[in-house]
Amino acid sequence: MKIAKIAKRAGFYILISISALSLLLSLSEARDSGTSKRIEVKDIRFWSNPTYTRIVIDLSGATTFKYHLLKKDPSIKKPQRLFIDISNATRSKNLTETKGINDGILKRVRTGQYNKDTVRVVLDIETIEDYKVFPLEDPFRIIVDVTAKGRPSSPEVAGSKKELPPAPQKRVKVSRIIIDPGHGGKDPGAIGKRGLKEKDINLKLAKKLRNLLRGSFKGDIILTRERDIYLPLEERTAIANTKNADIFLSIHVNASPNRKARGIETYYLNFTTDEEAIRVAARENGTSIRHMSDLQFILNDLMRTAKTNESVRMAADIQESIVSTLKKRYRRINGNGIKGAPFYVLVGTQMPSVLIEVSFISNSEEEARLRKDAYLNGIAKGITTGVLKFINNTGTSAL
Ligand SMILES: [Zn+2]
Repeated sequence: MKIAKIAKRAGFYILISISALSLLLSLSEARDSGTSKRIEVKDIRFWSNPTYTRIVIDLSGATTFKYHLLKKDPSIKKPQRLFIDISNATRSKNLTETKGINDGILKRVRTGQYNKDTVRVVLDIETIEDYKVFPLEDPFRIIVDVTAKGRPSSPEVAGSKKELPPAPQKRVKVSRIIIDPGHGGKDPGAIGKRGLKEKDINLKLAKKLRNLLRGSFKGDIILTRERDIYLPLEERTAIANTKNADIFLSIHVNASPNRKARGIETYYLNFTTDEEAIRVAARENGTSIRHMSDLQFILNDLMRTAKTNESVRMAADIQESIVSTLKKRYRRINGNGIKGAPFYVLVGTQMPSVLIEVSFISNSEEEARLRKDAYLNGIAKGITTGVLKFINNTGTSAL
């Protein structure tokens, strides 16, 4: 009411400009004085074994952060530290200040309000060889991967798109395979027109694949989930790394707004400009296409220790084998080839890793086929043959 009175006396335009200015001022004051909404550091999760630790910092929203590895300084008698400063952030009251890890790499992780705008997360280090810090989106979280000496790592260059990289001279032992049935629990994945859920097909197929592999592969086979439960993408990667897996297979079913789209495609982790591949990765990451360009930017550093050459060769063996197996029994089987794309679940894996899109649930004929055991058996048979071919050409397996 007061404003309305002033408006009549002082004139409309003047009032608008002053109130707009004061609104801007009050907004910036609120930001400076800390009354604006801060991002909350909600939780810290970790998975570890004696040579690898993954820490996930869960936040209530997106923000910026910096990190720094302090040099060793024996004179101060403190452990070496890696710290991450998270801007515009506060600690959640429920977050414990110190979490003991004591896995031989890290002693503990600590959090504190460094200043009024910054939360500092400190990792107290026992021994460290390499580390990576990167964000994932939707929900925003910061991943810290730390490795110690003794971890097999071979820096590689991304494989050429045109031809497959040569088989490595040095044979590697393959004694443990991780099968990752995509989605689960509250996350159904893609849903077909007639209601078939991707999460159910992925789990069913993963179990069929395990049974078939057991017939000829004598090593361990571990599923990331045995039931219909939700598992974050970064945890699936952490399971593969902490279990020291030699091969990682993530099982998915494709979907497209174009109901005619059909066929099989196998992915490995890489940069891409292919719009279709970006769309598939964004859907599987549960993130927007806009966030995909940020991911491609950070991938540069993350690709350094990825087993790209082996992953490309394994993708080719699996893709070729699924298509040829299904073609013996079915018409209209499209082999869409192997492609690189930035999938969250493949980021940071330390073994040859692929993500298989076994068919399109959005295509009515393929949805109907996915309901049938015979079709899933054919896919499982194809993947098994491809994996065994890869192992025989690459490594000395536990066969
Ligand atoms: Zn999926």
